[in-house]
Amino acid sequence: MRITKIETAVIEANYDWTIVKVSTDKGIVGWGEAFFAPGLTGVIREFNEFLPGEDPRDVDRLARLMRTAMGATGTAGMGYHAISGVETALWDIVGKDCALPVYQFLGGKYRDRVRIYADCHAGKGLSSLSPVLLPRTPGWAQKPGKTKGERTELSPKYHGGQKSEARQIRAEDYARHARAMKQRGFTALKFDVDVPSEFSLDDYNRCLTRKEIELMAGLVGSLRKALGPEVDLAIDCHWNYGVNDAIKLARACEPFDLLWLEDPIPPENTDAMRRVTEATATPIATGENHYQRHHFRELLERKAVDILAPDYQKVGGLLEGRRIADMAEVHYIAVAPHNISSPIGTMASAHLCAATPNFLALEWHAESVPFFDDLVKGRKQPLIEKGYIEVTDRPGLGIELDEQVAFKYRKQGEAFFDQPA
Ligand code: MG
Repeated sequence: MRITKIETAVIEANYDWTIVKVSTDKGIVGWGEAFFAPGLTGVIREFNEFLPGEDPRDVDRLARLMRTAMGATGTAGMGYHAISGVETALWDIVGKDCALPVYQFLGGKYRDRVRIYADCHAGKGLSSLSPVLLPRTPGWAQKPGKTKGERTELSPKYHGGQKSEARQIRAEDYARHARAMKQRGFTALKFDVDVPSEFSLDDYNRCLTRKEIELMAGLVGSLRKALGPEVDLAIDCHWNYGVNDAIKLARACEPFDLLWLEDPIPPENTDAMRRVTEATATPIATGENHYQRHHFRELLERKAVDILAPDYQKVGGLLEGRRIADMAEVHYIAVAPHNISSPIGTMASAHLCAATPNFLALEWHAESVPFFDDLVKGRKQPLIEKGYIEVTDRPGLGIELDEQVAFKYRKQGEAFFDQPA
């Protein structure tokens, strides 16, 4: 069996869901997904320079070939997003060729269903971000006549607090949402507490005022109360704070027994992360901005983290993800993978989670995307039921992209598989 071509399509959802399709001369087609990045589909299609003609079953060697090919771009970043998408599609091909599910090639399964935690926000409707993290209305949702070329407003979450436009944060909105998700059967939820508030004094100094910490701890407390003892709660801070105030926040959250506090400080400085982790009983999670085993090794060996959150559409592939999870297991640390994918990437991650002994919960970030389940066919719907994904015996990923539905939500200006932009 030989690879014949690699194609891409982008679906405009809450993020750019970048789908990879690898075709073979045996007629088997493999699906994968890559974490979004500006210009990413161009990188993925570059692999057509050397992957066609290769045997798709040599997955690890081909992943290594792709890493070598991307060598000039460094040991992290969007090259790894591209590799991850293709590598997953290769496993889908291997599974289909052998009539076995992908988890069989990752060590076999520890569990029949994978626990999902829902990422929640208090707002209503689809909030969508472009590949450079600017708020947008997806092309398929735009009314005709929209003027192009205007500067887009920055995202408060990622580009600074924008105090003047501080959102009115209502603990009751958070609590209502939490109760609704609990009703749907989720046993773990994650909320953002790093929302701009009237108490912020500076958008850039990474400091929190006492009032902000009080407000955030208050949000956590009302969520905790709404959820009761049986549903776990995590919170995310998106790398916004400095060591000192991150520690204050983590300590203020200690009475609420969080599942974890995610990315309280920026991800690059492992020693700084260790200082936060050591200073609080609140478990600290990080990993969604780390790549391949070498970068995770440092986090683990320097004891900088309590829970590891790798993103399997980013780290360099499913087998790389398995190696990262194994390294965490050596340190008796659990893995709670980050995931903002379509059903394709979510299902790929679920196969690895089923095969990971030290797995805690897998993220689902698409609650606000109305067409999430419509995008795929080949298994019973919905994909996530009562807070779990069932891992079936169907070959490969056990899921196929519905190309007709995907076409409806495609990104303008991007190729849709064999149809040029
Ligand atoms: Mg996060």
